Amino acid sequence: MSYQHSYAQSIADPAAFWAEQARSVTWYREPTVVLENNADGTHQWFPDASLNSCYLALDHQIEQGRGDQLALIYDSPVTGTQQSFSYLQLREEVARLAGLLRQLGVQKGDGVIIYMPMVPQAAMAMLACARIGAVHSVVFGGFAANELALRIDDARPVLLLTASCGLEFERVIEYKPLVDRALALARHRPRNVLVWQRPQAQAPLQAGRDLDWAQSVTDAQPVAPVELGAADPLYIMYTSGTTGKPKGIVRENGGNAVALHYAMRTVYGMQPGDVWWGISDVGWVVGHSLIVYGPLMCGCTSVFYEGKPIRTPDASAYWRVVEQYKVNALFCAPTAMRAIRKEDPDAELLRKHDLSSLRQLFLAGEKLDSSTHQWLERVSGKPVHDHWWQTETGWPVTAPCVGLEGSAARAGSSNRAVPGYHVQVLDDDGHLVGPNHQGAIVIALPLPPGCSQTLWGDHPRYVQAYLSTYPGYYHTGDGGYLDEDGFVYIMGRTDDVINVSGHRLSTGEMEDLVARHSAVAECAVIGVHDDIKGQVPLALVVLKDGAGIVESQLLVDLVASVREEIGALACFNQVRLVKRLPKTRSGKILRAVLRKIADGQAYTPPSTVDDPAVLQEIEAVLSGLARAS
Ligand code: AMP
Repeated sequence: MSYQHSYAQSIADPAAFWAEQARSVTWYREPTVVLENNADGTHQWFPDASLNSCYLALDHQIEQGRGDQLALIYDSPVTGTQQSFSYLQLREEVARLAGLLRQLGVQKGDGVIIYMPMVPQAAMAMLACARIGAVHSVVFGGFAANELALRIDDARPVLLLTASCGLEFERVIEYKPLVDRALALARHRPRNVLVWQRPQAQAPLQAGRDLDWAQSVTDAQPVAPVELGAADPLYIMYTSGTTGKPKGIVRENGGNAVALHYAMRTVYGMQPGDVWWGISDVGWVVGHSLIVYGPLMCGCTSVFYEGKPIRTPDASAYWRVVEQYKVNALFCAPTAMRAIRKEDPDAELLRKHDLSSLRQLFLAGEKLDSSTHQWLERVSGKPVHDHWWQTETGWPVTAPCVGLEGSAARAGSSNRAVPGYHVQVLDDDGHLVGPNHQGAIVIALPLPPGCSQTLWGDHPRYVQAYLSTYPGYYHTGDGGYLDEDGFVYIMGRTDDVINVSGHRLSTGEMEDLVARHSAVAECAVIGVHDDIKGQVPLALVVLKDGAGIVESQLLVDLVASVREEIGALACFNQVRLVKRLPKTRSGKILRAVLRKIADGQAYTPPSTVDDPAVLQEIEAVLSGLARAS
């Protein structure tokens, strides 16, 4: 099958195209209806079909003769542990954990929060929820108690699963005090907290509410997968929007299964028996699609890594894993490769490893700069592919489809739209623009299977955030252009979301925290360029008259507050005092201009600027910053 043919068919007749792809999924009830459109622009794929995602990831693989093949390889340089699970072993663990969840009263449709480090029990927890139809929401372990509390109140879980600690380099981060704090802050209370005790820290358990995971699961009876509707939610994944309230992206069982079957083979070129390594944390969408559901549903062996690109123990960590497990393809964020390159620029460490199993590397999560791209291709000797997607889509929107004939990759671009995605570029008035003209990147409806169609408990917010700006199109929030051959170039977000080491964060939320400081009259938080992390936040602050605080003290206060409320992952450590902020005549802060000044780029003062002199003041304050980057 060629890329051109598949793509044309997927756009001309999406229902026929996806009916065909749906055949690779083993359903309990096959779809007789493929696509139903709703009046508000959303749609439902495979509305009358039924399946179970855990069955597809485990039981079905065993039925296909893969019971003894490795399903998961846990490699943890931070604890010195290596452990593997065959499909049969993983199913045994998951089926018993699912039995325990049921025993604790978790029912189909109930929310379950998983706040865990990169231990295999996190993947088991996800699959156990999927087995009984509970809706899991994995919250990244780096999030602070306040962020966890926000998600608890939104997801309203009946159960919370956690571990006693996570490990960051040499540091043990205790999770239980964070969970206890979050539960004290949250209005909603789950009935129970199930705690996986790790040897590095013992969490005290609160009688009546907290349970020891390992002890409780030994007595549980394994349970079989339940039949679920294609539209039943599999998971909620919170992601930053432009406000402080995270969006609960909902992923449905049916669309997700069809999309991931298609993506693993077509985009990533993976076949059953291959070894795949999705380098991410299970707390992100990549962890869901490319560590757990995608590779297992495709019958691959999935590497589950609790470590870093560098310092665990050095910049050869990735190459050691590739060699040891004969990894065939991997996914990672560009920031990881930039960190490796910084420590091993001449690839001396890389050269000590046999990378012959590796066919290609896929990078996404943020822009892949051409210098890192070229370096990686040169030192690895493998094709390096940039591709672009979002938490909302759950699988790649643009990518070289290595599993299709005629697939092409173009350096500098995140490549062409994957079959199913009609990617276009619109100007501010919603008109299509021609090749090489920048605008808002949108996807013409319908979105293909797998893409989120609603937000947990707030459908109107979904329609408002994604479908109302340009009727008939899904608004990605990214700006960029297409070239004359349909290759897509992503230039960055058009909203107030920044991307720090591939993590999406709301500057609005940080502004809110900065503005709460008693000395702050007004502020703006923007993302500025960082050589390793891609972007980092910078706060520009106008002090109240007579505030009597020095910049260094303000910095200490604000850094502590962002760490406490959002978490260290925000990498918030830059504050500059300014006399005024540049605004439009209607009072809107000119954030896009601020971003350009901070990054030392040329800009045209907008005609709506209230006082152009403010821009020069800001340039003077930020001049050192632009040189530093
Ligand atoms: P997330 O939902 O956290 O996966 O973040 C999605 C956002 O990350 C996108 O909307 C883009 O702004 C950015 N992003 C992801 N992949 C790429 C890429 N290959 N090139 C440029 N930006 C990317």
